[in-house]
Amino acid sequence: MKSEEDYYGDQVRCKNRSLFKGLRFLPPGTTVESGEKGRVQGSLRVQSGQPGAEKLSTIAVKGFQGTSLLDFPGRVASLIFTGGCNLTCPFCHNPGLVLDPGAFPDFPVNELLADLKKRQSFIDGVVISGGEPTLDTGLPAFLRQLKELGLQVKLDTNGLLPEVIHRLLDEQLLDYLAVDIKTTPDRYGELHTRPVSPAPLLRTIELVKAAAIETEFRTTCVPQLVGEDELRLIGELLRGAPLWVLQQFLPEHSLVVEWQELSAYPPGQLERLGKVAEGYVERVLLRGL
Ligand code: SF4
Repeated sequence: MKSEEDYYGDQVRCKNRSLFKGLRFLPPGTTVESGEKGRVQGSLRVQSGQPGAEKLSTIAVKGFQGTSLLDFPGRVASLIFTGGCNLTCPFCHNPGLVLDPGAFPDFPVNELLADLKKRQSFIDGVVISGGEPTLDTGLPAFLRQLKELGLQVKLDTNGLLPEVIHRLLDEQLLDYLAVDIKTTPDRYGELHTRPVSPAPLLRTIELVKAAAIETEFRTTCVPQLVGEDELRLIGELLRGAPLWVLQQFLPEHSLVVEWQELSAYPPGQLERLGKVAEGYVERVLLRGL
């Protein structure tokens, strides 16, 4: 078992970084003006060049960070965040984007693509995160645009929309797929205000295990949701997978205010969980220790 720092070496500059440090949001209430040619208000309609694909689609980008050395293993990447989610995890670190995405103006996507084009010489790819990006029907068309720029794509997802993930894999629009496994499937109802069927997550796990690209499963080890028993049950589902990342829980920004007062596992306990996880997958990394 290796820590993230061991594995990625000097690319890991700050192990205890805040998840959204350096991320740029347009402040709520910002009006995105339609000024020079090509600038738009709100979401841009992205033209898809793929035969048979939807002709026009939109993606609502809510946050952007130009350069990250930490979020796309082995690559320098830009980060893009979409809004909205089909869960409301009590420990979520970005409640604003999840609960009220409309409060954040959309980045003009044509300007974003122009910015990424300028960065082509020093970034390898783009990480698409959220919120939950697979909810955005404009995602496939947007990823095609990134591919046309020659950029690699990493998708961070909660895995509850396997049909979208299947399509993106099928179209070879992804280079790296990271899927959160937040607790055992039967406890997913604790992550939302409505019942959550575990069946889609189980389908996604099989898709990830069969995928011919780099993949990781990742679990934030929130003591209230993931103990050794849960970890073993999850491990059975992930058995044989190439990589399982166990992340430290950072309570202070939790969506549910009461969870901000909870304690994370001490490092030694997380390391013990890592040893358990090693019995199920090819490689385990600890992140955030
Ligand atoms: S942690 Fe992820 S899946 Fe959960 S509510 Fe936040 S964005 Fe959605």
